[in-house]
Amino acid sequence: MKEKIYTIPLSEAYEADCECPFCVIEKRLEQEAVDYALGASMMEPDSRVNSNEKGFCRRHFEQMSKKQGKSLSLALVLDTHLARITERMKEIEDKKSSGGLFKKGVAKHQEMADLLKEMDATCVICEKLESTLEKFACTFWELYKKESDFHNKVNSSKGFCLPHFELLLRMADKELSGKSLEELTAELTQTEIKNLERVNEDVNWFTKKFDYRYNDAPWKNSKDAPPRTIEKISKFMGQGEDVK
Ligand SMILES: [Zn+2]
Ligand SMILES: [Zn+2]
Repeated sequence: MKEKIYTIPLSEAYEADCECPFCVIEKRLEQEAVDYALGASMMEPDSRVNSNEKGFCRRHFEQMSKKQGKSLSLALVLDTHLARITERMKEIEDKKSSGGLFKKGVAKHQEMADLLKEMDATCVICEKLESTLEKFACTFWELYKKESDFHNKVNSSKGFCLPHFELLLRMADKELSGKSLEELTAELTQTEIKNLERVNEDVNWFTKKFDYRYNDAPWKNSKDAPPRTIEKISKFMGQGEDVK
């Protein structure tokens, strides 16, 4: 059995009545990672080197900037990260070039553009979330295969958002093989499709409620259908304002 650090939060996420338990986990991990980036990480030389090199995406910088009482920590992170960006730009700028070209015939300004693109694409928190969620996905399959209580709970759940369902399918090969791989992925896909149809019905009923013929009909489960559909089909983008 996988370590409890993965099994317990996974079981707990199934206690929440939500469209995707992996979104519940991701949101919690994200808050912890933002706290860490402005807290304990500041004292760890290795993680400072990492954050100086990679920095954070806009979303995570914004979440960091909303943390109360952490403006000095944020400024320290920004100070050394920006110094590192400038240092790397100068390394390229200071290289001797012949006719504007160097290193495999790439022009200096293009190498500079590549560096900036690379730095923009990296985020310490996004990378951490991705690798931790992959571990959760492997644990998911292990439990789905071996624990009948968990298996039944999943089959009667509301499924997953599409990006997290994609993650689960992608990680299935790491944990399962042969007949169980084929059967369990098919079973989970059926649960997912059934739940996509449920959400689809809700949003469809929402559109009907704007037709005068349905004026007196009940809203059923459709009042929050548009935001819930977005939650179901697109990448989890938790609310920044939830960050305290
Ligand atoms: Zn999700
Ligand atoms: Zn990020």
